[in-house]
Amino acid sequence: MYSVGDSMGLRIVMFGAPGAGKGTQAAETAKKHDIVHISTGEIFRKNLREGTELGLEAKKHMDAGGLVPDDVTVRMVEQRLAEPDCANGFILDGFPRTEAQAEALTEFLDEAGLALDVVINIKVGDELVIQRLSSRRQCPECGAVFNVVSLRPRVENVCDQCSSKLIIRPDDSADTIKNRLDVYQVESAPVLDYYRSRSLVRDVDGVGSVSETDAEIDAVLAGLRSE
Ligand code: AMP
Repeated sequence: MYSVGDSMGLRIVMFGAPGAGKGTQAAETAKKHDIVHISTGEIFRKNLREGTELGLEAKKHMDAGGLVPDDVTVRMVEQRLAEPDCANGFILDGFPRTEAQAEALTEFLDEAGLALDVVINIKVGDELVIQRLSSRRQCPECGAVFNVVSLRPRVENVCDQCSSKLIIRPDDSADTIKNRLDVYQVESAPVLDYYRSRSLVRDVDGVGSVSETDAEIDAVLAGLRSE
């Protein structure tokens, strides 16, 4: 684990329902602030592509739109956060998703003498989520995310970054989307209460364009500096 003195950058949780735009905004914010972007969903998908034990375990839950068990997920995130590149700050995308994960993260950071700076909650309604997830396309190789309505790739069905053929994520099917939204309400919404009670949450509107939400996030982060 890195030491307290090394911790220069921001430590952010990007929170929101599936399809809120967490991944897109986290990637943008990470680039701007030169911090590590950690997407738990992406780590699971990478493990699945590589056929690891973790990937196969995760698949059982992901395909149905459920959550990977807390012990597996927390261990994976803690290992990732202990890597040296996280010393300059990180942005967690898709974690924590349960109150137990949030508690584990607090404990882990406490032990290192660290704390989160902010939890950015991207707010969107269910209808928009369903619309966005059903038009989402993803690069199976580099993980870049596109949308056939709002964020089209330069060439139809081809990744702008690595030219791989884009796919529809298996968990973006209509039935699975509904299940993921239910899981979000039951398991993940309490995470917001957990962080609200610690005054860490800043709400941003996820309904507008990518750049509009991005601008709101910039304002939140700029505000943190002057707090
Ligand atoms: P995402 O890419 O964030 O939408 O995550 C895709 C899927 O990975 C989720 O629907 C879950 O099955 C699994 N997953 C990602 N992050 C977590 C987490 N923090 N806890 C449990 N399961 C997760």
